[in-house]
Amino acid sequence: MKLNQRGLLIVISGPSGVGKGTVRKALFEFDEHDFVYSISMTTRPPREGEVDGVDYYFVSKDEFERRIEAGAFLEYAEFVGHYYGTPKDKIDAYLDEGKEVVLEIEVEGALQVREKMPDAVFLFIAPPSREALYNRLLTRGSEDPTTVVNRMDKAEREFLLAHKYDYIIVNDDVHNAADKIIAVVRAEHAKTERSIQSYRSMLEVDDSYGK
Ligand code: 5GP
Repeated sequence: MKLNQRGLLIVISGPSGVGKGTVRKALFEFDEHDFVYSISMTTRPPREGEVDGVDYYFVSKDEFERRIEAGAFLEYAEFVGHYYGTPKDKIDAYLDEGKEVVLEIEVEGALQVREKMPDAVFLFIAPPSREALYNRLLTRGSEDPTTVVNRMDKAEREFLLAHKYDYIIVNDDVHNAADKIIAVVRAEHAKTERSIQSYRSMLEVDDSYGK
């Protein structure tokens, strides 16, 4: 039985090359939950195969800065020379509809979300080893060597902030990692503070009982 609950805001971070996108796609295959992906805006140029409005909204630096001024972002950060941000329109509406909204963002932005929406769930996707991560970054071939080095450097700093997250999900295998996230989503929904109100209204119990 599913209680009529607000959806979860799920923040996923982890170093470049750890496979966050692949884990997220595996997660979305579970039909038990209605996941929506929050499409970020960035000033980074598209990689081969990336589609505007699907992978990111690709905009110019001027356009991004205009939106910062207009207060259009839930959070934003600079990452290896480019801006990235989460458009804040729609997020609340999705959560109210019971959808699980997934943000795939770097650490600095995640900390801003922690301040603004403290009941979000924070997941850090970790590689099984440093070597595995670096091999992936070196072999995926989508960046020039300087960018790869900068991303490795950034990864080292992100490891140091993993303790700020609620859960560490080691991505040893994509399906394993997605299973672990589903377990977290189920447990978070079952938390008393999230479920008591809808449970009481379902049973028509006086909401003030025991306060
Ligand atoms: P990439 O260039 O590899 O697509 O993304 C670089 C980093 O920016 C990744 O860690 C990615 O999760 C993060 N990122 C993507 N969108 C956002 C966003 O909206 N806000 C923040 N703060 N980081 C983002």
